[in-house]
This record gives sequence, structure tokens and C-alpha cells, in this order.
Amino acid sequence: MKLLKEKVMTEGIVLSDQVLKVDSFLNHQMDPELMREIGGEFARRFAGEEITKVLTIESSGIAPAIMTALELKVPMIFARKHKSLTLKDDILVEKVYSFTKRETNEITVSKKFLSDSDRVLIIDDFLANGEAAFGLARIVEQVGAAVVGVGIVIEKSFQPGARLLVEAGYRVDSLVRVASLEDGVVTFADELD
Ligand code: 5GP
Repeated sequence: MKLLKEKVMTEGIVLSDQVLKVDSFLNHQMDPELMREIGGEFARRFAGEEITKVLTIESSGIAPAIMTALELKVPMIFARKHKSLTLKDDILVEKVYSFTKRETNEITVSKKFLSDSDRVLIIDDFLANGEAAFGLARIVEQVGAAVVGVGIVIEKSFQPGARLLVEAGYRVDSLVRVASLEDGVVTFADELD
């Protein structure tokens, strides 16, 4: 996705060989126009899949996920990372190791928002080792619903998440694929094709 690639090139900050900071348009300040484009792009890519719900994880997945859900005209659910006092019983729980926080969180979704007839599109901001995406997929599968695919805004292709998800049978569609962050430079995968 050209617009997103330009944003990453002009505003992305390489924090290390492993971590890219995009807090000017996705992870802190958010760019609504760009989020709308992202939602439209995911909706186009997954058109015809009869998606009934979009699922993400708080907090940075929420903006791209809600825009995608708006385009697909379906509800969006975000998994919570911290137990809510109002979310007591009837919850689906999975453990997810956080790449950025280096801690394991229990992510939760209320059972009342997913059923075995749902066809779910998982959306997240980044894909690194696939922990978040696998955790969300396990939540969907706990109720016997189908994971239609995983839509990622920025995939770091040098980390194993995309490969592991594809090997597990999931469709992964990433809007930009970063091949390397070495020497403080963002190299995109399609520049190496
Ligand atoms: P994974 O679960 O695939 O290992 O990592 C993906 C999650 O970690 C995303 O939800 C995202 O919040 C965070 N993450 C992973 N890599 C990066 C990165 O390079 N930059 C930022 N800002 N977040 C990342």
C-alpha cells in the first residue's frame, strides 16, 4: 500500500534492528485519513469472505480494525489486555506474550460477542512473532468460529510470525512488509523481490 509505505519511510523511527516506532500516525497520534484508507484496503482484500466480525487487540489495533469493520458493515471486537471489573464471567481467555512489553498478558473477550457461526477477520497493527495473532485465533476457535484471515498493517517479515501463521493454515495479508531494520534503515520486502 503506497500511501502507508510513504508514511513509514518519512515518519517511521527505527528504534533497533527489531523495533519500528510509528507513533506519529498509528501507535500514539493517529492519522484518520490513513486509517480510512487502511480500512478500505483490508475490506477490498477480504471482500467475498462473508466476514461477520472483525477482531483485534487493544490498543493500537483498534483504529485499523474499526475502519475495516465500518467498510465491511460488521461489528468490531477488541480483546482486552487487562481484566475489566464488568467482564467477570463467560469470558474467553488466552495467554499472549507481548513483544513490546516483554510480559505475558491474559487477553479476554466476552463469550456473548462470538458464536460458532461467526467468520472472523483478525486485524493488528504489527506482526512480529505472531503471538498476538495466534492468541486472537485461539479465542475465535474456542467457540468453534472460523478465522477467515489475518490482516496486518506492518509486517516485519524478518521475524517468524507471518511464516508461522501461514504454516498453521491462516491467510495473512499485510499492507506493508518490512524486510529489515538493520543500520537504522527501513527496507521493504518488495524492494528485494
Ligand atoms: P507479535 O505478537 O506478532 O510478536 O507482535 C505484535 C504485537 O507487538 C503488535 O500488537 C504490536 O503492538 C507489537 N509490536 C511488535 N513489533 C512492533 C514494532 O516494531 N513496533 C511497534 N510499535 N509495535 C510492535
